Amino acid sequence: MSKQSSSVQSKAKPYPRRCAVCGEVSVAKCHIRYKAEVRHDGKLHTFSIASLGIDQCERCGEQFFTASTDEEINLALRSHLGLLPPNEIRAGIALCDVNQKEFAQHLGIAAETVSRWLTGASIQTRSLDKLMRLYFTMPNVRVALSNLEAVPVEHQTSAGSPAKIEVRESCVGISGENSGPGPFRRIFTQATIARSESFLLIAADH
Ligand SMILES: [Zn+2]
Repeated sequence: MSKQSSSVQSKAKPYPRRCAVCGEVSVAKCHIRYKAEVRHDGKLHTFSIASLGIDQCERCGEQFFTASTDEEINLALRSHLGLLPPNEIRAGIALCDVNQKEFAQHLGIAAETVSRWLTGASIQTRSLDKLMRLYFTMPNVRVALSNLEAVPVEHQTSAGSPAKIEVRESCVGISGENSGPGPFRRIFTQATIARSESFLLIAADH
């Protein structure tokens, strides 16, 4: 495999394009065999792609990875890992008769995350892939997850002592200049800390 450039060129430009390295207008689309090394879910994955579309300068040989190259690599990684591809996620959401926003709420993730999976911009973790498969195939899971969202935080904790958890937002005068805490100062309660800890756990998993 020869040298690569990480530069991403605009999709819209017609071929041949001007080479960012030698300056000649001789960059054309070509296909190569590619050994990909991609980090996902905290691990490095190595796999081969038989025919990867890239831009290559016919004059100097420089290779450019475009946005569509990245999409192809992401798709190949999903296939390598056995994770649901965007079209199957889209079909699953449609079959369950929910919209993307509801689906995201039921899974407990941001709607933007689902949107990025569907465009191929990012790939779900193994655990979210499993959760999606359960969601798509088991009506009981869908009902449970959609109901869970409506249950107040204190009822979700299974701890022996039903700790009273409150999240207080105090609103100190918005116009106050030297009045100490800002207008939306958050008081760190047990619930806030518990949430922060779960965020940390998720971050470490990636
Ligand atoms: Zn060139």
